Amino acid sequence: MPPLKRVLTDVIVVGGGGAALAAASAARSAGADVILLEKNPQLGGSTAWSVGSVTATQTPHQHKAGILGDNPQHHLEDLRLFSRALRLEHCDNFELGRLLCEYSPAMFDWLLSTGLEFVGPFPEPPHRVPRMHNVLPNSRAFPWLLGRHCRKQGVDIRLNTEVLHLIMDKAKGDRAHGVLARAADGSCSEYIARKGVVLAAGDYSGGRELKARFSSELIANVDAVNATNTGDGIRMGLENGGTVINGDYIRGPILRFVPPMHTTFEKSLPPLPAITKLLHWGFDHLPKRILRPVLMNYLTTALAPENSLYEHGAILVDRDGLRFGDERDQPARNAALRPDGMAWMIFDSTVADQYQQWPHFVSTAPSIGYAYLEDYRRTRRDIFHCAATPGELAASMKLPRTAFEKTLADYNANAAASDAPVRGDRPAIVKPPFYALGPAKAYIIFTNGGLKVTLNLEVVGKNEQIIPGLYAAGANGQSGMLLEGHGHHLGWAFVSGLIAGKNAAQAQA
Ligand SMILES: Cc1cc2nc3c(=O)[nH]c(=O)nc-3n(C[C@H](O)[C@H](O)[C@H](O)COP(=O)(O)OP(=O)(O)OC[C@H]3O[C@@H](n4cnc5c(N)ncnc54)[C@H](O)[C@@H]3O)c2cc1C
Repeated sequence: MPPLKRVLTDVIVVGGGGAALAAASAARSAGADVILLEKNPQLGGSTAWSVGSVTATQTPHQHKAGILGDNPQHHLEDLRLFSRALRLEHCDNFELGRLLCEYSPAMFDWLLSTGLEFVGPFPEPPHRVPRMHNVLPNSRAFPWLLGRHCRKQGVDIRLNTEVLHLIMDKAKGDRAHGVLARAADGSCSEYIARKGVVLAAGDYSGGRELKARFSSELIANVDAVNATNTGDGIRMGLENGGTVINGDYIRGPILRFVPPMHTTFEKSLPPLPAITKLLHWGFDHLPKRILRPVLMNYLTTALAPENSLYEHGAILVDRDGLRFGDERDQPARNAALRPDGMAWMIFDSTVADQYQQWPHFVSTAPSIGYAYLEDYRRTRRDIFHCAATPGELAASMKLPRTAFEKTLADYNANAAASDAPVRGDRPAIVKPPFYALGPAKAYIIFTNGGLKVTLNLEVVGKNEQIIPGLYAAGANGQSGMLLEGHGHHLGWAFVSGLIAGKNAAQAQA
């Protein structure tokens, strides 16, 4: 076998999502030579799948909105309220939460400095003031602009390069010395880091083994929105004595409409600052009825329907046209057990008329905040169905007509089906036209188990000893933080990446 190729640098960053790009940039700013290794053909990871909300204080957007007294201490206090509401305060990591809140203003300034454009801040109780900022035009702007920023700085970005293992140097007290990685042609190389290795390879939402290990077989069998996040960074940390905290704290299964498959003109445009600035101007000045369809056409991710739709009379059917449980009780968990985890949401024009304006929205949505049925009709023709009769609706959804008609008739007659209870006091689905949204699919959105790290983002190994030269950021370095509320996961990816990258660059070789 030919000897492995050896590549020497100062800092190696594993992954190419938000945390990795922040780490690479910070390490380069601190004077290090940096190689970033991403296994996929493009940068982005879950960061590019996200809705794109980033929560931060003391931003220019808050100041412009007249929110002047907000600060990291208030942010931390409100972060606690999210965990308290879930009765999970005892297992959250507020030491790192403090780091997240304190660093958020600088992190947001850094994002802006790279050319990213945001709208907001949007309110999200129990945050005492609006803090949620949404990226324009969608979350693909993160890898696009942060990747460009890193390349300009001189970061060596290598795509299609999968990191397989860490290389440890026994002579230096089991110091992380580099990584073994495989290129697309199957050839392997050793990448040696003079200073440090940053693990930023995302969560294990798509990693069957780790989901089964930390949670259950049911969860292991549910597909992830981002199937390529297989928890490789977490695995490499575990192989070298690291510990995972809150591994069973998993977001999902959750029903989300399948992401749009079609490309729109808007989506084919790169998120150049000239375009996003124009959109931002439009957001501030144009009537929302003009701007909404434009912004919705940028949609790339999977949106989650509100559970209130079921309270108001919507039902779910599977690929066979059958109901499969009380829609108000764990609909996603039940859907996960059906063929492909797929479900279609059915309702009549009484519900449709209601879900056209605040407070009855179908889902939250990037940039516009909340999407109503009309938004779906105009921009999600792929999952929007409307017909004069149940039979025609079944045809539009490509579901078995007879079975679907019987399901609806049984439901309206208040008769129980084998897997679904009676309608009870919910309204019957009788007023034409009839509507369906779907398919929706039961997904794991993200996992929250992360390696235990110090406040410097160093990975903690056996006997609570730091593993020299090894850092973890983003999902890999979540270290027990729950990051509840919108915008804290991305916030953490960027904050932890910036800190880990800088510290790795300054590590003693
Ligand atoms: C649908 C959806 C919506 C979301 N919306 C929001 C939101 O609006 N706000 C928010 O705060 N959070 C949101 N999140 C969560 C957030 O996106 C993630 O927590 C965050 O992006 C994690 O960043 P990361 O850099 O740690 O990982 P990622 O962005 O996933 O990056 C990890 C990268 O590592 C690469 N990688 C993996 N293994 C290897 C390997 N062996 N070798 C080389 N590279 C490897 C992956 O391909 C990937 O590119 C959302 C998530 C999803 C799925």
